[in-house]
Amino acid sequence: MISVSEARAALLQLCSVTEVEQVPLAQANGRVLAQEVSATREQPPFSASAMDGYAVKRDEVELHAMFQVIGEAAAGHRFEGSLKAGQAVRIFTGAPVPDGADFVVIQEDVARKKDLITIQSAPGASNNIRPSGGDFGRGQTVTAPRLLRPSDVALLAAMNIPVVPVRRRPVVALISTGDELVMPGGTPGPDQIIASNTFGLKAMLEDFGAKVLVLPIARDSESSLKTAFSLARDVDLVVTIGGASVGDHDLVAKVSADLGMERSFYKVAMRPGKPLMAGSIGKNAMVGLPGNPVSAMVCGHIFLRPMIQSMLGTNHVSLPLMTAVLSHDLAANGPREHYMRATVSHGEVTVAANQDSSLLSVLAEANALIVLPPHAPAQTKGNTLQYLPI
Ligand code: AMP
Ligand code: MG
Repeated sequence: MISVSEARAALLQLCSVTEVEQVPLAQANGRVLAQEVSATREQPPFSASAMDGYAVKRDEVELHAMFQVIGEAAAGHRFEGSLKAGQAVRIFTGAPVPDGADFVVIQEDVARKKDLITIQSAPGASNNIRPSGGDFGRGQTVTAPRLLRPSDVALLAAMNIPVVPVRRRPVVALISTGDELVMPGGTPGPDQIIASNTFGLKAMLEDFGAKVLVLPIARDSESSLKTAFSLARDVDLVVTIGGASVGDHDLVAKVSADLGMERSFYKVAMRPGKPLMAGSIGKNAMVGLPGNPVSAMVCGHIFLRPMIQSMLGTNHVSLPLMTAVLSHDLAANGPREHYMRATVSHGEVTVAANQDSSLLSVLAEANALIVLPPHAPAQTKGNTLQYLPI
């Protein structure tokens, strides 16, 4: 049995970065920027007023000073003239600052009578002007790789980049296996259950940035499983769920071997998730997840996430672990790395009492997986533990 970190390293060996594709800016959120892009303009493209008020000359600004208002500048409409001594231009937020002006007195500090204004409160030190290029200059870059968030989309838009080079989303085929499984919305027989982790993994993989094909459930027969595999050609990753242990009906190892799977490893020293299998079939990477719902989901977090990230070119080889203080005592760990469902709140972590790997309700309550290394000694309340936010 290999360790979790060895398994992760081996899985990354099976992955290659996807190609670059161009998407409209409106579809760039959540995608990974694949190439550096640069601003085609500066922002703001002119010095702009940051406030509603009056544009004047800074040297003339003092309490009780009077100015004649000679025109108006609004956002999108500059004042064409040039400001001379004793003059002011009515100005609004976002409007270009007129030539000759270098200060905006906010309207709250001014009294106006017809075309005359008087400064009535001492203006602060700020000139209330956004300098041209103050946000970014022409040619300023956004470097790749980068997971684009809404704020990045706003920045790219301001840079006037309408089409964005991103990594193609890796395509993952999900094959659920088992005679007992029925799709959600179906009518289960008396001995059947609903395929659940299939949909949890689909959601999770999509959150990681993948495109997911949920294939028809493979029954516990070699021919049914082979049919499912045959539908999973031309994908980046095939993920099977269940049928990976050594029971009489666990056929994933046999069928994938018959299909020419080059095995990378089988079984990882972890809880839950021990019967994990991985390799490649032709160009496809393949991962066989254990069927127990929580095991499958935990393996998704620990193994599938770095794989998808690697395909997207955002190599996070190590897990983004955080720390929290244990709110109770905890028994010593056995020989396998243990990922325990837990709840972290205000820096304190409470581990769920029942860690049975079939309990999705406990997983749904949890927001963290604490990581106990193999043979970790008993923990006492107040100890600091590492966890993966989920
Ligand atoms: P297996 O690895 O096929 O022996 O499955 C282990 C356990 O997980 C069994 O109780 C299965 O019924 C259950 N299981 C397998 N696949 C799924 C699935 N897609 N959704 C929910 N439970 C599953
Ligand atoms: Mg099964």
